[in-house]
Amino acid sequence: MPRPIQATIHTAALQHNLGRARRAAPDALVWAVVKANAYGHGIERVFEGLRSADGFALLDLAEAERIRALGWRGPILLLEGVFEPRDLELCSRLGLWHAVHCDEQIDWLAAHKTQAPHRVFLKMNSGMNRLGFTPERYRAAWARLNALTQVDEISFMTHFSDADGPRGIGHQMAAFLQATQDLPGERSVSNSAATLRFGTEPQVRADWVRAGIVVYGSAPDHPERTAADWDLQPAMTLSTRIIGVQHLRPGDTVGYGSRFTADRAMSIGIAACGYADGYPRHCDTGTPVLVNGVRTRLVARVSMDMVTVDLTGVPGAGIGSEVTLWGRAANGTVLPIDEVAQAAGTVGYELMCALAQRVPVVVD
Ligand SMILES: *Cc1c(COP(=O)(O)O)cnc(C)c1O
Repeated sequence: MPRPIQATIHTAALQHNLGRARRAAPDALVWAVVKANAYGHGIERVFEGLRSADGFALLDLAEAERIRALGWRGPILLLEGVFEPRDLELCSRLGLWHAVHCDEQIDWLAAHKTQAPHRVFLKMNSGMNRLGFTPERYRAAWARLNALTQVDEISFMTHFSDADGPRGIGHQMAAFLQATQDLPGERSVSNSAATLRFGTEPQVRADWVRAGIVVYGSAPDHPERTAADWDLQPAMTLSTRIIGVQHLRPGDTVGYGSRFTADRAMSIGIAACGYADGYPRHCDTGTPVLVNGVRTRLVARVSMDMVTVDLTGVPGAGIGSEVTLWGRAANGTVLPIDEVAQAAGTVGYELMCALAQRVPVVVD
């Protein structure tokens, strides 16, 4: 028998969450963002659940090829555009739309020989200071693109730094609106957080939203709001089984560095999941975990292949019992990935993206 750990991708949850994004921005078309191998879920595994999206957005040309290989003929957007001139050939061949964020990308387009002109998304740096033209340089970039025979449609995009936090999007939205107000073309501004929080505000309405984390069922603004608050369902469950049990006496310690000391007689379960599976080593005693669908806690340090869980209050738990690290237990109880991420000092994004290659994945 293989090691009992397994990740499950929930097709119905992806469908539900995509619907949730649509309801949050009712007039917009929805890109399902599937970069980083669909946030660790696997592009081929999420395709069925997300195929009612209006397009797929990603970064990696190889991932774009994988989506075309699945038979997808609709829009695909390269969020960072091309990385070198010859990437434009693949864009022509596969009909990829691509972001344009710097002058070099315009130079490459100007030198590109193509039968079919491209659709591009001109990216504005409205305050994030990562990729894009500043508002002052945006029009000049637009004019250059607009003069190219290689380009037939120019859309406008920007990306928010604080859509999930107190600063919000007002300052960036103002810069974007001012610089694009009389330019003709479709617009895309919102990520998941902006879609959920501001999607229906008239100022923020746009033709396309870019829904990433929301479709995977994690709350972009956790712990301010939870996945349940936003009516999101986990798209991934990471589960395993108990492979050993220890009965501790008061004063016994557990694991590397003896990080946990029993203050009373208690039983712990040894579960087959460790940091080599992508479970964060930063999780410590107290991190929530489900055993047989009952909420309990991690104790001691996470090892490479094992974690230890407190069996107090989980009657009947023993070898073979189900352990849910995040996602949905067999009895329906949900442990949000965001709570585990918080215990590790990070965000749900990082945990799902870090699911290790050695974990077998099934789609339900
Ligand atoms: C990753 C990404 C998104 C999606 O962000 P979420 O917070 O996961 O919704 C949207 N736009 C761009 C440009 C991105 O890189």
